[in-house]
Amino acid sequence: MSLEYDKLIFDLSSPGTEGISLPPLDVPNVKADDLIPRDLLRKREPDFPMVSEPEVMRHFVALSLKNHHIDKGFYPLGSCTMKYNPKINEKLARLPAFTEAHPNFPETLVQGTLQILYELSEMLKEIAGMDAVTLQPAAGAHGEFTALLMIRAYHEHNKHTPTKVVLPDSAHGTNPASVAMAGFEVIQIPSNSEGRVDLSKLAEHCNGDLAAFMLTNPNTLGLYEMEIKDIAKLVHNCGSVLYMDGANLNALLGIARPGDLGFDIVHFNTHKTFSTPHGGGGPGAGALGVKAFLEPFLPAPIVAKKPDKKGNMVYNLDYNRPLSIGPVHGFHGNTANLIRAYCYIRHHGGPGLREIAEAAIINANYLRSKLSRRYDLPFAGRSLHEFVLSGNRQKALGVKTLDIAKRILDFGIHAPTIYFPLIVPEALMIEPTESESKVSLDNFVEVMLQIADEAEKNPDLVKGAPYNTPVSRLDEAAAAREPDVCYSC
Ligand SMILES: *Cc1c(COP(=O)(O)O)cnc(C)c1O
Repeated sequence: MSLEYDKLIFDLSSPGTEGISLPPLDVPNVKADDLIPRDLLRKREPDFPMVSEPEVMRHFVALSLKNHHIDKGFYPLGSCTMKYNPKINEKLARLPAFTEAHPNFPETLVQGTLQILYELSEMLKEIAGMDAVTLQPAAGAHGEFTALLMIRAYHEHNKHTPTKVVLPDSAHGTNPASVAMAGFEVIQIPSNSEGRVDLSKLAEHCNGDLAAFMLTNPNTLGLYEMEIKDIAKLVHNCGSVLYMDGANLNALLGIARPGDLGFDIVHFNTHKTFSTPHGGGGPGAGALGVKAFLEPFLPAPIVAKKPDKKGNMVYNLDYNRPLSIGPVHGFHGNTANLIRAYCYIRHHGGPGLREIAEAAIINANYLRSKLSRRYDLPFAGRSLHEFVLSGNRQKALGVKTLDIAKRILDFGIHAPTIYFPLIVPEALMIEPTESESKVSLDNFVEVMLQIADEAEKNPDLVKGAPYNTPVSRLDEAAAAREPDVCYSC
């Protein structure tokens, strides 16, 4: 018999077990009951589980193993950059000087934190080829929304009121959502047969009513936009702004800078590119970099470095920004994430960042060339940090991409992103990241080839997967809409 530590902790409870032993009260002349007024004392002991410290530990470790996570196995979730998060970043971000600082502390008491935020902004400016940075947005989507509010403020300052924002049909779903939330009309243009921007389709919308063109480069197919210079010229010639969704900067680090390519504004997903554990929707930090003409509209405050009365350099929060769109976050953004990003960048340095991009690109191309022998590759050619396969060949045998994704779980690997981008039927979007070794990539190839075999010889096996997970096929809509989280009701 093995003890099931993954049971509810209440079910592990046995009367009298203590998790912690306190010494007897040794304050003279005080009874515990005297410390709290009698009418405020509970009449009944609370119904806490009675478990020992090792049992608590084993319970939570057992629960953590029910879920997939990057510390447990490969996680090739495309567009999410689930790279390994070095633990040193966690350790540094948790230093008490950071975690115990109150956000309302006067600037003089948090000079170290402000210095880190200032220097991170400077590094992001350099990485992206931009002139100014805000660290406030709490995630990529929030960075997009902030950027669109700034674009609106910029046009209004110039007495323009354009109403439309164009984006390609391969765009991440947050792009049209942010555009709509910021009050613009979304115009989606079809990609060309290579999966890239169709310049003639973009040109149709290049007029005084175009507020911005939003583009992901490399795009969500993992393909570089070869005509980026022409795209930039076209957009700028009609007085519009070129926005880059830089959520996944992994492919460009140290190789190309969005600012040099003609982009005016870019958001960074520091949690993806610069490593923070970010599964399940958080936490994030979606900094924005902008060219000088957009700087006045950045959210206030900005961390600045100025001489004090005695001439010493000090860091402060600059609220004196009359054209600012105002703050988009309470206090200074998700500082713990920003500190992790700072540590990660400082740890690798400039040449190290370039190596990250090169390894991410080589890893993705290695998998692409191995897997495209058995799975359809709708957009051919070399990719950057990720690529998109189609499960069409397997679907013809009765095995859907969803079935393949479920079967992958049986091998202790997280499924790739599926059914995105929308322009690829039965899409499987694979992003290995730079942090995987050849051994782990080869293992993934073996698993995928085995599943391709199974789809041909034993489709029902794939359709019934997963078999090795704590739960099998969930009703995902009901799980989100009607969660049953009550223990004893
Ligand atoms: C992840 C991602 C986003 C959204 O970022 P969040 O931090 O999840 O809000 C936007 N665009 C692309 C291309 C992404 O991969």
